[in-house]
Amino acid sequence: MKIVLLGPPGAGKGTQADILVKRLLVPHISTGDMFRAAISNGTELGKEAKSYMDKGQLVPDIVTVGIIKDRISMSDCREGFLLDGFPRTLPQAEALDSLMEEMSTSLDAVLNISVPLDRLIDRLTGRRMCRNCGTIYHLLYNAPEVENVCDACGGELYQRDDDKEATVKSRLEVYEAQTAPLISYYEQKGILHTINGDQPINAVTAQLGEALGENWS
Ligand code: ADP
Ligand code: AMP
Repeated sequence: MKIVLLGPPGAGKGTQADILVKRLLVPHISTGDMFRAAISNGTELGKEAKSYMDKGQLVPDIVTVGIIKDRISMSDCREGFLLDGFPRTLPQAEALDSLMEEMSTSLDAVLNISVPLDRLIDRLTGRRMCRNCGTIYHLLYNAPEVENVCDACGGELYQRDDDKEATVKSRLEVYEAQTAPLISYYEQKGILHTINGDQPINAVTAQLGEALGENWS
C-alpha cells in the first residue's frame, strides 16, 4: 500500500507511522528524520537543511523532492511505503504524482490527521525524542517509564531545537500557508481520509486502520 500521512506538526504522524509500518510491513519514509540524520552525519545536505529547520521554514522543494525520488526508487518501496511529512507543498505533491506516474503506480490513500491548533503547541513543546532510535514521547501524554530514558532502547531523550516555542509558532504558520492546501488537493482526487487526531493514540490508530479497510480495534 502506498500511503501519505498528512497533518500539521504535532498531529501524531510520526507516532502513528511507527505503529502502522509494523502492521503494514512497508518502509516508513520521514523527510524530517532524513534531514535530522543528515545533520547528525554533518553532510552538505544536513548543513543546508539545518539553516531552514532552525527557522521553522521548509527546506526548498528542489532538495526535498530530490531525496524523496532517490528513496522511493529503492527496491524496498516497490510494494508500498508510508510517507510522513512529505509532501508539504503543492509543487511537492505534483512532483510525487509525476513520480508515481513514471513508476506506473498511484497513491492508495492520504490519511489526514486533524488536531486543533491549541493542542498542537502543547504537543510540540512537550515532545521528547530518543537520540539513539528516534522513538517519540511526550512529557505528559506519552511519557517514558523512567524520566529521560527511552523505553525501547535505553537511549537518552532530548528536545528537538525546532520544538522550542518560538520556532513552533512559525512552523504552524508555514503549515497553514503551504501544507493545508494539500487537503483539498487530495480531496479532489478522492483519496483523502480525515481522522480526528485529538483522541488517545490507540483510538487514532484504529480509525486510521478503518480508513485503510483494516480492522485493528
Ligand atoms: P508529528 O510527527 O505529526 O509532528 P508526533 O507523532 O511527533 O507528531 O507527535 C507530537 C507529540 O504529540 C509527541 O510528543 C507525541 O508523543 C504526542 N502525541 C502523538 N499522538 C498523540 C495523541 N493521540 N494524544 C496525545 N499526544 C500525542
Ligand atoms: P518534521 O520532522 O516532519 O516535523 O520536519 C522537521 C523539519 O524538516 C520541518 O520543519 C522542515 O524544516 C523540514 N522538512 C521536513 N519535511 C519537509 C518537506 N517535505 N519539505 C520541506 N521541508 C521539510
